[in-house]
Amino acid sequence: MSGTARRYDPSEIEPRWVARWEEEGLYRAVGDGSRPKFYALDMFPYPSGDLHMGHAEAFSGGDAIARFRWMQGYDVLHPIGWDAFGLPAENAAIKRGIHPKEWTYANIDQQRRSFKRMGMSFDWSRQFNTCDPEYYRWTQWLFLKLYERGLAYRKLAPANWCPKDQTVLANEQVVNGACERCGTPVVRRDLVQWFFKTTEYAQRLLDDMDQLQWPERVLTLQRNWIGRSEGAEVRFEIAETGDEVPVFTTRPDTLWGVTFFVFAAEHPLVPKLAEVGGTWEEARALIERLQATPLTNREQAESREGVRLGVHAVNPVNREEVPCFVAPYVLMEYGTGAVMGVPAHDQRDFEFARAHGLPVRVVIRPPGGVLDPAEMVEAWAGEGVMVNSGPFDGTPSPEGIPRIAAWLEEKGVGRPAVTYRLRDWLISRQRYWGAPIPIVHCEACGEVPVPEEDLPVLLPEDVDFQPGGESPLARHPTWKHVACPRCRRDATRDVDTMDTFVDSSWYFFRYCSPHEEDRAFDPEAVRYWMPVDQYTGGVEHAVLHLLYARFFTKALHDMGLVPFVEPFTRLMNQGQVIYGGAAMSKSKGNIVEPMPIVERWGADTMRLTMLFAGPFEDDIDWKLIAPDPDRPPPVYHFLNRLWRVVCDAAGSDAPEPEALVRLRHRTVRVVTADYERYRFNTAISRTMELTNEIRRTLDAGGGARETAAVLVQLLAPMAPFIAEELWRAVLGKEGSVHTSSWPTFDPELAKEERATLVVQVDGKVRDRIEVDADADEETCRALAEASENARRAIGDRRVVKVVVRPPRLVNLVTAA
Ligand SMILES: [Zn+2]
Ligand SMILES: [Zn+2]
Repeated sequence: MSGTARRYDPSEIEPRWVARWEEEGLYRAVGDGSRPKFYALDMFPYPSGDLHMGHAEAFSGGDAIARFRWMQGYDVLHPIGWDAFGLPAENAAIKRGIHPKEWTYANIDQQRRSFKRMGMSFDWSRQFNTCDPEYYRWTQWLFLKLYERGLAYRKLAPANWCPKDQTVLANEQVVNGACERCGTPVVRRDLVQWFFKTTEYAQRLLDDMDQLQWPERVLTLQRNWIGRSEGAEVRFEIAETGDEVPVFTTRPDTLWGVTFFVFAAEHPLVPKLAEVGGTWEEARALIERLQATPLTNREQAESREGVRLGVHAVNPVNREEVPCFVAPYVLMEYGTGAVMGVPAHDQRDFEFARAHGLPVRVVIRPPGGVLDPAEMVEAWAGEGVMVNSGPFDGTPSPEGIPRIAAWLEEKGVGRPAVTYRLRDWLISRQRYWGAPIPIVHCEACGEVPVPEEDLPVLLPEDVDFQPGGESPLARHPTWKHVACPRCRRDATRDVDTMDTFVDSSWYFFRYCSPHEEDRAFDPEAVRYWMPVDQYTGGVEHAVLHLLYARFFTKALHDMGLVPFVEPFTRLMNQGQVIYGGAAMSKSKGNIVEPMPIVERWGADTMRLTMLFAGPFEDDIDWKLIAPDPDRPPPVYHFLNRLWRVVCDAAGSDAPEPEALVRLRHRTVRVVTADYERYRFNTAISRTMELTNEIRRTLDAGGGARETAAVLVQLLAPMAPFIAEELWRAVLGKEGSVHTSSWPTFDPELAKEERATLVVQVDGKVRDRIEVDADADEETCRALAEASENARRAIGDRRVVKVVVRPPRLVNLVTAA
């Protein structure tokens, strides 16, 4: 056995290849149509510090896919940039007493160095960050395009306000009533805000999901967030004033059970109705109190407070007059801002009715039971049979829903209707570190868009950016004062900035032609590279970024700017990296940083550890993998073994035994399929088996040069440094392993070995058949059922059960 003097030394190998790859310009996307294209995209990072373990995991997976496609012969676009505006950078800068710009650019430099040290196969010529004027100029341009089409608009609306971050939030940024970022319970505030009309695309956002190869859980989260529900719009009339008030209900089958009617506090009819009903004093007190000390969203939903308005709503199905209330549990922005109260069949209505002594009328009889309103302790919201419901008595409630909707339409008091849970996207932020909204407010002309040739509206740097309830830009002495672009009179700029999710809703278009000076992107380049073939990132973006990016793409499609309607064909979510069963956090003191591990044991060890830990979408508990920070993660030992095995194989000219050749072909077949399905962990297991087999072969005096080279190729996308060093320096190959052709397999040689399939009838052996060792259940079953010997043994009896254990056993069980 020929040994080698060199030992595996990642701290020497890895920095050397980083420099060499950069010199050779290895990862430039070409875009000339000579090869099929592949757009591999990783969700771009926030530069709020150095790379963390989540980045190390996500980018190890994304990079493995990109490199795999390179080797398969694709022209790969694998870009990187920075999502550089937004609260994390701004808050961190405030804490450190420096400017967000300084903090952001320093972090970008740090992350760029770390990505390079990790050996990511990015096309560095395409990098940009969203806080550069060359980028946000086009974010502002896209705002204007949406504005032109009526998809960006301003209105006074109750908004989710985070008291800690001192800004409004989109609905998508409120999780269980609290700020998604800092966890502070959100309160409601009435503010004039900019919105993007995502609701206009609600149905298409649902319908186009058919085109997406995404994890089912992400599709389900989006579907639920959009929340389509079918029901009816019903028009109630106010008896005392004749005003018509529409309500939306998903349960028109419960209309005969209405015993009261409720308005949201912001409903425009409330002051008038309370005036007529003689209860304005009391109603106003409630409304003003809610405005002065806003309830959190949850408190609002749970409130059973309410004030009688002294007027009555007429139920159109039976002309019954029921009392009207104003109450905080009804929200203006859902449905129509008014609801019909059906206490017997809606829990919140039930609690409200009990609190205010209102009647409970049962109109749905649950299966196998009769409800007594006096005895009920909760509403029955399920299905049943309609009772006390006039012409619909005896109708099963699910059937009643569409029939009543149609009946309402016939009678001219309602119609079938669909609503969505999705709200328009609130994009104004009262914070500094974002793209200014390119609108000027003029007393004479109203809202005036900044002309395209005047973009970008630059974010001034000399601003006191401490959050203070209004936008810091409003406090700048001169910035907001401009001449109206239309009439040239004195006017003021909009002082809010855009939600950072606006920046990230279109960055994947920019990568296709990142240096365009005169437009957001080159439509030809976008047509060439898009849609993204493989998108990698965290599942926490299921309804934030991914929904917004889909909305933007559809809007751009409708403007004729892009030819497709979905931006990301395939999506891969990585799991979280946790420590000791819990999320890593400063307060728990359990944060592990990736870069010190990379420096000490190598980037290949870091990457392979991430990919070997389990299925890519599962969480990784770092404590289980590397409990002792002074000892390397276990794959480090595998890489050392690989190193020695390949060095030894390179030094031997002995012929390769057939068994090794067969295992090589089988491994290529299975590992290729594993990459296609992102089964990195099983791919690594297979290469470990092949490594062991090469060792055995060499020890027995056989050769393994060719198989060792294939082994190196199979690992190259996941452990790029050691693979390159073994390929070029040890095996003496020309060119980079990363531009070598992905190994192919001979299907004959790749077949598993043969196995003997034993066919039993009622437990007795009746036949033995030679099969492929990888024969599946169906094949084994079919072979057993076709066996002459087995059929003879079965005779007239009937087979009632078949036990299959491929590839070794089939037992046909017959009825006596
Ligand atoms: Zn917050
Ligand atoms: Zn004007």
